[in-house]
Amino acid sequence: MANEPLLRFGVFLSAFGLLLVLERVLPWRRGPLGRRRWFPNLGLAALGSLLVRVTVPAAAVGAALWAEARGIGLWHALAAPGWVSIPASMVLLDLLIYWQHRWTHAVPALWRLHRVHHADPELDATTGLRFHPVEILLSMGLKMAAVVALGAPAVAVLAFEVVLNATAMFNHAAISLPPRLERWLRWVVVTPEMHRTHHSEVRAETDSCYGFCLPWWDRLFRSYRAAPAAGDAVVIGVEGWRGERQQRLGRLLLQPARSAP
Ligand SMILES: [Zn+2]
Ligand SMILES: [Zn+2]
Repeated sequence: MANEPLLRFGVFLSAFGLLLVLERVLPWRRGPLGRRRWFPNLGLAALGSLLVRVTVPAAAVGAALWAEARGIGLWHALAAPGWVSIPASMVLLDLLIYWQHRWTHAVPALWRLHRVHHADPELDATTGLRFHPVEILLSMGLKMAAVVALGAPAVAVLAFEVVLNATAMFNHAAISLPPRLERWLRWVVVTPEMHRTHHSEVRAETDSCYGFCLPWWDRLFRSYRAAPAAGDAVVIGVEGWRGERQQRLGRLLLQPARSAP
């Protein structure tokens, strides 16, 4: 997969560019910080990628190739054809991400890491990339274990990661879709309005709508909420962690070590 980095970056840039256009054409409310959040948000994303590259350079696609070469995993044991193993791996990896996300809300130590994502006081496509580097690394470790257990084909892992990256940016984007399109779209993908519920300051709303790509898990596991109770006036972020000073890259990196702002 010599073209893998180019493919990832190409899809990322295309999706990001398209979302910037949509944020202008179909804008949702903008906050006072706006693009001043881009440096910390994109900085966290870059540091997360760097940490993975340094500690587990093979990453999830490498884990898939490793398992493939040794015939390890569920799909190999079942001798499943590609038309089963590729889509099924993508769906099951999305299910794993859903549960991983629920655990980061339920386990206090994990919530401290994940709180960095929620502490963004405004939403736009860059929020979808804003995760603490240690959370990114833990997520990668879990994903690699799942990929080996499944014997997921490398192409499925790559496709899943590329799609998840694009859908995460989409559902954080500051766009307001026409109501009919929004209602239709939320049957196939997590929409911005669904994910805004998840970024509400109200804890019961924060602890709902955990999906990042497929919207079905929230309905299946009873964590679905159609919209925040306050509608478009929803207060975004985590109380106490919203300040401009709290958004500096250094403070975000150290935030998990602090119990209070
Ligand atoms: Zn969350
Ligand atoms: Zn989010």
